[in-house]
Amino acid sequence: MSARRSGAQPGGTLATLRAGLRRRYRARLSHARVWRRELPTEIDFWADYLRTGGGQFPDEFRTRLDPASVLDDPLVADRLGSLPGDPVRILDVGAGPMTSLGKTHPSRGLVITAVDPLADRYDRLLGEAGIVPPVRTRACRGEELLEHFEPGSFDVVYARNALDHSEHPMRIVENMVRLLAPGGFVAIRHYRNEGETMTYEELHQWNFEIRDGHLRLWSPRADHDLTRALAGRADVEAAQHAGSYHADWITAVIIPDPTARAEAVPGTGAPSSCPLCGAWLGPAAPRLPGRRCCASCGTQVTDPWPSNADLSAAYGPWYRPAQGRFGALGDALLTRSRGTLARRIDAAAPPGAILDVGSGDGTLLRALRARGRRATGLEREAGDDPDVHPRTLAEMPGPWAAIVLWHALEHLPDPGATLDAAAQALPSGGLLVVAVPNAASLQARAFGPRWLALDLPRHLVHLPADALLSALRQRGLRPERVSGWRGGQVAFGWLHGLVGLLPGHPDLYDAIRFPDARRAPMTRDRRTGTLVAGAVLAPLALALAGAEVALGRSGTVYVEARR
Ligand SMILES: [Zn+2]
Repeated sequence: MSARRSGAQPGGTLATLRAGLRRRYRARLSHARVWRRELPTEIDFWADYLRTGGGQFPDEFRTRLDPASVLDDPLVADRLGSLPGDPVRILDVGAGPMTSLGKTHPSRGLVITAVDPLADRYDRLLGEAGIVPPVRTRACRGEELLEHFEPGSFDVVYARNALDHSEHPMRIVENMVRLLAPGGFVAIRHYRNEGETMTYEELHQWNFEIRDGHLRLWSPRADHDLTRALAGRADVEAAQHAGSYHADWITAVIIPDPTARAEAVPGTGAPSSCPLCGAWLGPAAPRLPGRRCCASCGTQVTDPWPSNADLSAAYGPWYRPAQGRFGALGDALLTRSRGTLARRIDAAAPPGAILDVGSGDGTLLRALRARGRRATGLEREAGDDPDVHPRTLAEMPGPWAAIVLWHALEHLPDPGATLDAAAQALPSGGLLVVAVPNAASLQARAFGPRWLALDLPRHLVHLPADALLSALRQRGLRPERVSGWRGGQVAFGWLHGLVGLLPGHPDLYDAIRFPDARRAPMTRDRRTGTLVAGAVLAPLALALAGAEVALGRSGTVYVEARR
């Protein structure tokens, strides 16, 4: 996607005001939503471009169509001599209908592959315009490159004015690096701060710039340091060049360090790469109390990583005692809410057996069976139920009509692999139901290390809702229903947090549990005081929960995704 609209901006106060408003509006929209919503504008742009022979860029149009055009982007051309193999295999990511790369080189043979998420739509436009491009673009999202190509398949992976349009540019760069063969390099060329220049119109949503020598990728919602994210694994040579009247260029050549290997961080047993998106979690990974953060997708990984002994202790008998966790009222509420969940799943899933991963005390299994479903559970330890097994999802190939991950994913060491297994175990039309705490929620932010759903060390990973949704889509699981309420515990998360702000940090969750089910003993007076505080603060917690859900930053996220 290289030829862009002219940068001519209407001047004046009104335009500045409008730009400011749009910037603030965009700050509230997830990158995924912008991407989905603005795709048609990209198609319109190219339809225009093809119909008018390149519009204001007729020379560029001719070059793109010329099979003898010489590859002249110095970012790539100047480095071709250092590459080992011949021909040189080049991948253009986000190429649009016809790659902008020249097709020939004086001394090297070139094999160019071009991908773009909209390739199918472009094919139709090309057909209508009667154009046969020298390299036909294949349909593939940058976030899904590794599903279409083997790692090590290319000598050069290139992107020009494309990553700033995407949902997850950090993940795409990560994928681009992984596709490199030994000795290869990634080359990216983008207008400086294009999102800002275009005031976040249409698909423009990210900005490239160089700060303190580091390549930064930022938006009104995020700020990534690419140089740091790749530190220890690849060198990033970033530079700014004079561009057109429109903007300067920011270029970067990323060269992997051949000695770097993704090893476990010594002494901790912690994963060396993000358990959701696979990006490397180097020593430079940003930290929060008790967690390391993936610079690519925002997933947080519990750190220090608990040993098996730590986990056995953390899931001790107090966690789920035989006589129940809460009073009769609490357990009745739990049974009712699982009944509602069972009804939803039964209605939405095709006929067949259902697998509940992390089935706990079996409340959902019983509710599903009461509706006539065969229901199998997975738990750390098998109990009396012969249909509950101490196995992983990968060991239960199915096919399953539905797979339920109700507050389970965050307890598993490798949610990415679990979602892979789920996608494989579901037939076409099968249903995946996921509920997790939302690490990007307002309550997570408000309460930090005291947030109820952080639940260290039992929660090994802490997923932002956006990262989860995009991980589902990457696996061909189409989210049909996303809810901030249905995941449960939204209001209670606030209430627990608010009560915990009081002197002595009283623990409301312990106070509502049976004495044997508490994390720590509690005197009667303290318990009464805590419950009273909870009752007083309940209306405030409810209001905050409502606001959080309305803003799309709910404490939990519930997703029904269809295979
Ligand atoms: Zn990640």
